[in-house]
Amino acid sequence: MEDWLAQRTRAFDVSGIRKFFDLGASMPDPINLSIGQPDFDVPDEVKDAAIAAIRDGRNGYALSQGMPVLREKLQSEIDGRFRHADRQVFVTCGTSGGLMLAMMALVDPGDEVILPDPCFGMYNALVAMMGGRVVSVDTYPDFHLCPERVAAAMTSRTKLMLVNSPNNPTGAVATREELRAVAKLAADRNVALLSDEIYHDFCYDEPCTSPAEFNPCAIVVDGFSKSHGMPGWRLGFAHGPATIIDEMVKLQQYSFVCAPQPAQWAGAKAMDVDMRRHIDAYRRKRDLVVEGLRDHFELVCPGGAFYAFPKAPWGTSTEFCMRGLQEHKLLAVPGGNFSRRDTHFRISYAAADAVLERGIEALRKLAGAR
Ligand code: PMP
Repeated sequence: MEDWLAQRTRAFDVSGIRKFFDLGASMPDPINLSIGQPDFDVPDEVKDAAIAAIRDGRNGYALSQGMPVLREKLQSEIDGRFRHADRQVFVTCGTSGGLMLAMMALVDPGDEVILPDPCFGMYNALVAMMGGRVVSVDTYPDFHLCPERVAAAMTSRTKLMLVNSPNNPTGAVATREELRAVAKLAADRNVALLSDEIYHDFCYDEPCTSPAEFNPCAIVVDGFSKSHGMPGWRLGFAHGPATIIDEMVKLQQYSFVCAPQPAQWAGAKAMDVDMRRHIDAYRRKRDLVVEGLRDHFELVCPGGAFYAFPKAPWGTSTEFCMRGLQEHKLLAVPGGNFSRRDTHFRISYAAADAVLERGIEALRKLAGAR
């Protein structure tokens, strides 16, 4: 049966994060710092809106571009923020759905796609699925997007560049100036710019900037998974110029079909819920982690998302994380899942304070273990 499988299945491996997640699930009382989802629950009024939608029979197919109740609300927020004459939004199946459709709409076999390194592993897999070629731009050691490095990576085959600020796995937030420079570079070189802004609410030290503020042709993918603690609801959205968005909606018609209708009614409600207390709690968790680790690890203070990406003080990050698992039941994700380097590891601080405190203690012991 092996020979039935399409080439694209061989271009990438099973998600390494999932492997760690599965290991953690089989272990009693682990210190789990591997999870990329908020530890707060969906707000009650959002749950009620979903339940009401289901009870009211709003269970049919949604429009492919999204139900007006949500799409119009998103459109008016986006219009107010960007003030672009040509910026249309549609509703996707999570941010992942938007990423997949954007790649399908933009990347042909042989096209080069510029990705930051490190980055969210799904980007590499999606480029491989499209038959594209990843061109990595190294962002070590401070994880900032360096416009000169991006410019040096561009060739005549560059079709798309992807920006993710705040970043998974580093938590780095690109500065306004960096985003302006990169957005201008994409415009000058006629390269499509895709911005994954799923962590935009989790920006702790400054307001979050979108590169689309400087490049009206940028395509933005976003979603409710992190901002409202609802990753299982598969609700996201994408916006950009109509020429691209129309093609993405067409592709959605023949693939995902639509995002779940009850989730869309609930998403409209979610837009009215103030989530600030959760963001404030995560800022405090960020501070707790940075304070607890900074004397023992080389660590860039993360400005956003809910991850920190310290350098393993000895060995490869895989060796370091393996020992953490064996000796402390600590689950952290080795950097090789996000990067060509196996030097740093990701911890998620989207966890209860008690878990974070145990994690910090285990990591400090582990740092001195060699
Ligand atoms: N982009 C990034 C950077 C992410 O970290 C994630 C989830 N871990 C996603 C996209 C996918 O999110 P969603 O659940 O909305 O598909």
